[in-house]
Amino acid sequence: EAPESLNFIEQIIEEDLANGLPQEQLRFRFPPEPNGYLHIGHAASICLNFGLGERYNAPVNLRFDDTNPAKEEQEYVDAIKNDIEWLGFQWATECYSSDYFQQLYDWAIELIKQGKAYVDGQSSEAIAEQKGTPTTPGTASPFRDTPVEENLAIFEKMKNGEYEAGTYVLRAKIDMASPNMLMRDPLLYRIINKAHHRTGNEWCIYPMYDWAHGESDYIEQISHSLCTLEFKSHRELYDWFLDQIYDKSKLRPKQREFARRNLSYTVMSKRKLLELVQTKTVSGWDDPRMPTISGLRRRGYTPASIRKFSEVSGISKRDGVTDVSLLEFCIREDLNKTATRVMGVIDPVKLVITNYPEGKEELLIAENNPEDADSGTHEVPFSRELYIEREDFKEDAGNKFFRLTIGNEVRLKNAYIIKGETVVKDADGNITEIHCTADLDSKSGSGTEASMRKVKGTLHWVSIKHAIKAEVREYDRLFLDEAPDSHEEKGFMEFVNPNSLNIVKEAYLEPYLMNAQLDDKYQFQRLGYFTLDKDSSPSHLIFNKTVGLKDTWAK
Ligand code: ATP
Ligand code: MG
Ligand code: MG
Repeated sequence: EAPESLNFIEQIIEEDLANGLPQEQLRFRFPPEPNGYLHIGHAASICLNFGLGERYNAPVNLRFDDTNPAKEEQEYVDAIKNDIEWLGFQWATECYSSDYFQQLYDWAIELIKQGKAYVDGQSSEAIAEQKGTPTTPGTASPFRDTPVEENLAIFEKMKNGEYEAGTYVLRAKIDMASPNMLMRDPLLYRIINKAHHRTGNEWCIYPMYDWAHGESDYIEQISHSLCTLEFKSHRELYDWFLDQIYDKSKLRPKQREFARRNLSYTVMSKRKLLELVQTKTVSGWDDPRMPTISGLRRRGYTPASIRKFSEVSGISKRDGVTDVSLLEFCIREDLNKTATRVMGVIDPVKLVITNYPEGKEELLIAENNPEDADSGTHEVPFSRELYIEREDFKEDAGNKFFRLTIGNEVRLKNAYIIKGETVVKDADGNITEIHCTADLDSKSGSGTEASMRKVKGTLHWVSIKHAIKAEVREYDRLFLDEAPDSHEEKGFMEFVNPNSLNIVKEAYLEPYLMNAQLDDKYQFQRLGYFTLDKDSSPSHLIFNKTVGLKDTWAK
């Protein structure tokens, strides 16, 4: 067996261990902002952090980065926890940046006292203007040299809610000429007059990401704070903030960056996903077309398939786009091993077996899963009148058509070999019935010579008398463009596929599916993989198509 290769994050950790970091000090965190549902990009970060936890037997915290009450909600907190557990991971401690508001405030006061932070009463436009450009230094704010006592007094009033939002901010006093724009006196606090989902109205000043994140890592003693590449330039500030509070007897967290996961034919930022929800382009965060964990789950994806996808797409140092067909490959592989084989007809046409006795019915045996010897069998009722798929019959077909035609034989799955005889048409020439005869000695599994006969095609079918009517929802890509948010002239909403949902109102399924449960996975033979939708009820079954049997996108 080839030695397992380490990703570059694991290599960093191995180096740290080799340089003396005790393994029991390893600690990781997954830090979502509860401003939306988790998506398949977050799954990369979840699998990375929790995967490291498993590999090194180290705790992994779930930290809600809840520093902006204008965007965050309890609904998102609950959904995030549910999704992580569903993926099969368990966090060590559930933490919130908001738990540290008092500590962060106390540290901010220390910074002010040391002359390393000041309140600024200018407009955000003025502050932005003074920042300068990457090649020219910024200009000092007129507030930069306010005496400490005055800063402390104003900051306290900010905290006590005596100022309107936007009147004052607290800034770190670092370097207005730094080549790193983030070091040019970055904001630590701003006033937001919104109730917070956890702290209510206790606070009206809220820490900025950079101020909260590294200090939260320090409080939790996170050894490796892994984030995506857009934070690379923040690392200098992360370190500067740590320098101000760091006690050398404690572990000092380090930030390291990896590439975001992007997926073709979709968008991944929560802001954009929220827009799809708010404009009702989709039915909700868990719409089966969404790249969210909850959408994928509803679509029929399994935790194993998403974890596998993370494993095969890997952790990278450079941004790129992963082809969505890789994700589809992972779910197809998983379901092939686990899904129960059943029969359903989505576009039915009636088939009459003229030599099968009227009124007779029998139960045939269907294998549950040929890939799994322990999966057993179930019974499928058979009778004289069946539905088959309309596209499985052609009156005049060329010799490449291996399905049913007049005068040709095919096998009905788990049943008999039949031969097309005649058709019945309505006044418009549409076929309403196909009449055929069966070789009644050819029953599958009967052991007769006729049952061993090889014919070119095998069709799925349902017995009309026994079939259950169900709704089937088939999905196409939500966007027509490979990278819908990469265009300068057009917004991503302009690439929404208007035909991404196809609802089949009357599909007919074998009665075995009457007892389908929410998490059950099925292969409708020859059609694809399906799962029950949460909108389903016993009197109105609804199935989602997860994915087809083959990659229909391959060129
Ligand atoms: P979004 O733009 O979707 O809101 P975000 O980075 O603001 O993304 P957070 O909730 O802050 O979302 O993310 C939590 C963690 O997941 C962070 O460490 C973040 O870097 C990581 N993450 C988010 N999106 C991706 C992605 N597409 N690929 C890999 N990791 C991601
Ligand atoms: Mg974020
Ligand atoms: Mg965000």
